This record gives sequence, structure tokens and C-alpha cells, in this order.
Amino acid sequence: MITIQQLYKRFHDLEVLKGISLSIKKGQTAVIIGPSGSGKTTLLRCLNLLEIPDKGSLSIGNRKLEFQENRKIKLQEIMAIRRQTGMVFQGYNLFPHLTALENIMEGQVTVLKRSKAESKQKALGLLEKVGLKDRGDMYPHQLSGGQQQRVGIARAMAMDPEVILFDEPTSALDPELVGEVLKVMKDLANEGMTMVVVTHEMQFARDVADQVIFMDQGIVVEQGTPNEVFGQSSNPRLLQFLNKVN
Ligand code: ADP
Repeated sequence: MITIQQLYKRFHDLEVLKGISLSIKKGQTAVIIGPSGSGKTTLLRCLNLLEIPDKGSLSIGNRKLEFQENRKIKLQEIMAIRRQTGMVFQGYNLFPHLTALENIMEGQVTVLKRSKAESKQKALGLLEKVGLKDRGDMYPHQLSGGQQQRVGIARAMAMDPEVILFDEPTSALDPELVGEVLKVMKDLANEGMTMVVVTHEMQFARDVADQVIFMDQGIVVEQGTPNEVFGQSSNPRLLQFLNKVN
């Protein structure tokens, strides 16, 4: 579903991604872990072209893009990749002036050109799925952080993406609200959604990931099943990181 090869990204003098290659199969959950500043978020943002990589290639579904430093990527190509990816952000990023239901309808109506009736139908189904059936008429400020994030997940799913990217989806939440969001994500993974998740929740990685990717200083240092990465690796950078977070 996703293949990236030798992906590079720099911000001015700072080389943040230094040749990342990986592939994620349809229906798999890949969890990206690593110390702060290692490039995890940048990698995720490159996957839906919120950042344009400098070099390398990216394919998602049947779309493939090659990046070169002086070649500008056409907006059309960017939009085609974005259509296939949903994104869930750390800070929820809901529209504050729209209700939960309207937030989930918005992209369907404006981007996918679905009718309001169809969009509403879909939004109601998704609200139920994330356990917020009776919260559709509430505005973001009337919802807890965990509820807002579940609306964020429903909003991403409403666009029928091929893959959903999660950027530290529980990092801004009070600890007691983390579980409800992880549960929704776990259900999604079990249903066969293709997901890429940047998180510090190691238990989630152990329980849900098909593939764990450990990044440090802009490279993939270790990747494999949770068992391989958490149980069998002797890589000193990984062990040091796991010692710190556990
Ligand atoms: P992580 O998600 O692993 O914490 P990030 O991808 O957020 O890492 O950041 C990696 C490095 O890139 C950091 O040093 C960060 O300051 C830098 N960085 C990220 N985005 C930008 C940007 N838009 N402009 C300049 N530097 C950035």
C-alpha cells in the first residue's frame, strides 16, 4: 500500500530525513517510535505531502511520485495523494465553529462533493462507531479532548482514505482519556484499516502493530514485528530509548 525509498528531507541546513526506506502492506498497522526530534512527524507529513521530500520516491496505492530537489510537484499530484490519506493530528484540529457532526460532514461535501444527506448519514454512522452517537450536535469546546480526538478520527475516516496517518494522537490528552482513543484506533486496526501511527504509547505498539519502526536522527535504525523490536533487538540506541520510555 505504501512504499518509500531513499527519502530525504531537509529544512535549510538541518537534514531531518536521511534516506528512509520502508513499506507497509494493505491492512497493516505500522507504528513509528523514536526520540523527540528524530524526524517521525516529518516522515508522516511527507507521506501525505504536507511536506514535500527533497529526494526519493513515494508510492501510495497506485500513485507513485519521484522527488528531485529542483523538480516542483504539481498540485494535482499532491491532491491525488492527499485524497488517499487521512490524517489525525495531535491537537485534533477540528473546526471550532462547526458541530461534531458538521466537522465530519465538511470534507465529504466540499472535497468529495457528496450530497449533504449522504454526508450526514455517513457522519452519523461514524459517530456511532467512535462511541459518540449522542454528541453530534456539540461543538468542539463542549467535548473532552478524548471525544474531540475521536471526532478527528471519524472525520478522517469519512473521506474513505486508503490509509490513515496518526501524529501522536494521544499526546495532548489527559492520561485518563488516552485509553478511549487508543481503543478506537485498535478497533480500526482490527477491521483492516491501513494505519501509520507515530506514538509514545509502547503498549499500543506491542499490542496492535504489525510493524514497529524505530527512528533516530533521521534514519530507520530498526524495524520488525513488535517481538523483534521490543524483545530481540540488541541495538544500543533502541535499548537506550526503550529504557527511557518504559
Ligand atoms: P519528531 O516527530 O521525531 O519529534 P520532527 O519530525 O518533528 O521530529 O522534527 C525533526 C527535526 O526537524 C527537529 O529538529 C525539528 O525542529 C525540525 N523541524 C521540523 N519541522 C520543521 C520546519 N517546518 N522547519 C524547520 N525545522 C523543522
